[in-house]
Amino acid sequence: SVRVRFAPSPTGMFHVGGARSALYNWAVAHKAGGVFVLRIEDTDEARNRPEWTDGILSALAAIGISPADPAFEGPYFQSRNATLHRESAVRLFEAGRAYHCDCTREDLEARTGSKHLGYDGFCRDRGLAAGDGRALRFRTPDEGVTVVADLVRGDTEFPNASLEDFVIARGNGSAVFLLANVVDDVDQKITMVIRGEEHLSNAAKQQLLWEALGATPPQWAHLPVIVNEKRQKLSKRRDKVALESYLDEGYLPDALVNYLFLLGWGPKDDIEIRPYAELEQLFDLRDVNKSSAFFDVKKLSSFNADYIRALDADAFVRACEPWLLGPKAPWAKEAYDPAVFAEVAPLVQTRITVLDEVPMYVDFLFLAEPADDEAAWAKAMKPGAADVLTSAREELSRAEWTVDALKAAVEAAGAAHGLKLSKSQAPVRVAVTGRTIGLPLFESLQVLGRDRVLTRVDRAVE
Ligand code: GLU
Repeated sequence: SVRVRFAPSPTGMFHVGGARSALYNWAVAHKAGGVFVLRIEDTDEARNRPEWTDGILSALAAIGISPADPAFEGPYFQSRNATLHRESAVRLFEAGRAYHCDCTREDLEARTGSKHLGYDGFCRDRGLAAGDGRALRFRTPDEGVTVVADLVRGDTEFPNASLEDFVIARGNGSAVFLLANVVDDVDQKITMVIRGEEHLSNAAKQQLLWEALGATPPQWAHLPVIVNEKRQKLSKRRDKVALESYLDEGYLPDALVNYLFLLGWGPKDDIEIRPYAELEQLFDLRDVNKSSAFFDVKKLSSFNADYIRALDADAFVRACEPWLLGPKAPWAKEAYDPAVFAEVAPLVQTRITVLDEVPMYVDFLFLAEPADDEAAWAKAMKPGAADVLTSAREELSRAEWTVDALKAAVEAAGAAHGLKLSKSQAPVRVAVTGRTIGLPLFESLQVLGRDRVLTRVDRAVE
């Protein structure tokens, strides 16, 4: 049966590329009725931190990959398998598939005259025993080719002569990553390795290790690189790559999953916006593109906007809650009134792209004073604005409190000064909401209530 694995290293924020790999592994496991193994590759002690492991688990949960699912197995921790890694290295040595080597980088450079050539095989037949400062190198075949059969890239041939005798264990006997990764895959009975293309260059060496360990190599699938709008590989220094930062800004998990799933693959009918369950059924690794996938934040945003519009009223309010009640809300918790938010929620829902925008639209309802935005004031409070506001105050103080009557009131206030509604609205909007853009003005006034509207207009005129 199919056993795939997702094997992240807990060395930083969880990357959108990692999320894509995880989703493809998850889809393959589910569709085949197989198993998805989660393996935390925590052997780089200098860079690992336990909080990154927590981050991986919570990011996976956010995109629907949950330990509660019957297909989920693990997490395994690579560090806990260190004994088996060491023993495997010894086995390869004893079988004559690896040899000890005491060459330093300088030795090699002096012999080859280059910093960049691979190992020259100097210690191959010296018969060195294990010892301090002696790495263990795998003896690659001199002839023939290693064919990496890849579901995405087809067969890739690596002439064995071009594969150097690479290090598999350090002088102290501990396995290097390349070997640990294979030993774990063999141990966990992995049948298919689906991972980013940056690992393709390792695949030939790893396949040789699989064979040397007496195991049948897995089916490989290397996923295309993800690039930014400049066609550069996404990097954490340059680009926003952490899944969490997208969740934090209020991209909906379903929208992210949908969008990430399309980085390198698309359904044949070109209908892109669809639930994960459908994507999973349609997905086939053989249809994944070889060419790099463009991470288009604009397209992600437009997916997100569509997903937000599609929520029912309750689900929308629930999705907004972290921005209304949680630490992301700019007002005091007691100031928030769910009934008030419910009145304007449908207006917010049609306007935003990410949930992070929610407070900006509704803060005038929950802050004691409207937001203090100097640029907005400067823009709207042109000469004459005070006169319009004075008239508006009068009209509003006696208007019936309905959307139509409020509109008529502001219109009349403008007309008294020869201004159209579009001009007379602006100072009222800024006086009351502190902003030049926002929800429809008359609905906003209505929900805010006469007292607070008049107080704010008075303050603006002062
Ligand atoms: N731990 C490796 C990484 O995060 C994964 C290697 C693999 O999937 O084989 O890049």
